[in-house]
Amino acid sequence: MVLSCDCSCTRRAWVIHTYDVANVGAGPAGLSAALYAARYCRSTIVLHDWASRAARIPLTHNVPGFDAGIAGPDLLALMTRHAEKFGATLVEAHVDLVAKADGYFTLVDVQGVKWAARSVILATGLKLNQIPLEGDVHEAAIAHGVLRYCPVCDAFEHKDSRIAVLGCDLSGAAEALVLSGYSRDVTLLPRRDVELTDAELGNLERAGISLITESVSRYEPTTNEMVLHFGSNNNPLAFDVLYPALGCRPRSRLAAQLGLPLDKLGKVAATAPFGTDVPGLFCAGDVVDGLDQISVAMGHGAVAATKAHNWLRERDGDTAEAVLDHGRGDGDE
Ligand SMILES: Cc1cc2nc3c(=O)[nH]c(=O)nc-3n(C[C@H](O)[C@H](O)[C@H](O)COP(=O)(O)OP(=O)(O)OC[C@H]3O[C@@H](n4cnc5c(N)ncnc54)[C@H](O)[C@@H]3O)c2cc1C
Repeated sequence: MVLSCDCSCTRRAWVIHTYDVANVGAGPAGLSAALYAARYCRSTIVLHDWASRAARIPLTHNVPGFDAGIAGPDLLALMTRHAEKFGATLVEAHVDLVAKADGYFTLVDVQGVKWAARSVILATGLKLNQIPLEGDVHEAAIAHGVLRYCPVCDAFEHKDSRIAVLGCDLSGAAEALVLSGYSRDVTLLPRRDVELTDAELGNLERAGISLITESVSRYEPTTNEMVLHFGSNNNPLAFDVLYPALGCRPRSRLAAQLGLPLDKLGKVAATAPFGTDVPGLFCAGDVVDGLDQISVAMGHGAVAATKAHNWLRERDGDTAEAVLDHGRGDGDE
C-alpha cells in the first residue's frame, strides 16, 4: 500500500506492508482473533497498549478448562504464546487513528507510526468506573479479593460473605439482588445520593437487602476486609468485599472514528463480531454489547477472525462458490 508523506522531506511516498488482518487489542478477544486469523494463514498483526482488563484478575474460576482457576496474566501469557506460535505479530502501540480509504485501513499510533490492513478487528475492551483509591492501593484491594467489580465473575467465591454494594440506583439495586442469591448479608449504600424511590427502597428491604443512606467518605481496604467510613459518623463498617456498581466506559473511540453507531453505554452492536456496515471491519469482546466475560470475548474473537477471513476470500474470488462457478463457466465455453 502506498501512503503519501505529510512532512516536507524529499520522499513523497513510501510503501508499507499491508496485513490481511490488523487486530487492535491483546486481551482474550484480540488474542483469540489473532490465533484464528494466523491459523487461516492470514498475515496478522496485533496492536495493543498493555491495558487488558484480564491482566488485573488475581484468579479466575470461570474460564472453562481451568478448574483450579488461572491468574489473568498467566492466561494472557499462554494466549499470546499460542497466537505467536502460529505466526501472529504483537506490537506495543497506542492506536490513535483509524481510517478506511481506497479499500484499505490505515492505523496510526500516538507516535505517528502507520500500519495498513485489508481488514480490522477492534477488540479494545472497556474501562471500569472505579472507586477513588490510589492506583497501587486499588490493585492490592482487587488482589486481596476485598474489592470486586463483577458478580458474574466471582460472586460464587463470596457465598455467605458480608457484601457491600456501592451505588444506590437501579444498577446498584440489581447487583445487590443478584448478590443476595449468594449471601443473606448484603448492604446497599450510595456513592453520593440515593436515587431510588422510597417504594423501591422498601421493596429492597423486604428482599433482605440492608440499606445505608449516608454516602461513603473513605475506603480503607485491608488484606481481608473493606472498611468503609461515613461522613459525619465515627463508626466505620467492615465488609468482606465491596462491589462498586458504577458502570464502565467502553473503549469505542476507534469504532466511532470509522462511523460505527454506539449504544447509550458507548458499546458497538452485538452483531459486530459477524460484521459491520464498514466492509472488512469487525469487533470483538467487551467493546461489543453483551456479557463482559473472557469466554465470550474468546468466542467473539473466533467469529470475527473467521468472518474477516471469509470476507477476504470473497474479495479475492476465493470462495467455493466463486471457484466452482468459474470452473463451470470455463467448461461451458
Ligand atoms: C478485576 C477483574 C476481574 C475479572 N474477573 C473475571 C473472571 O473471573 N471471569 C471472566 O470471564 N472475566 C473477568 N473479568 C472481565 C475480563 O477481564 C474481560 O471480560 C476480558 O478481559 C475482555 O476481553 P477483551 O479482549 O474484550 O478486552 P481486554 O482484555 O480489556 O483487552 C482490551 C485490549 O485492547 C487494547 N486497546 C484498547 N484500546 C487500544 C488502543 N487505542 N490502542 C491499542 N490498544 C488498545 C488494550 O491494551 C487491551 O490489550 C474481570 C475483569 C476485572 C477487571
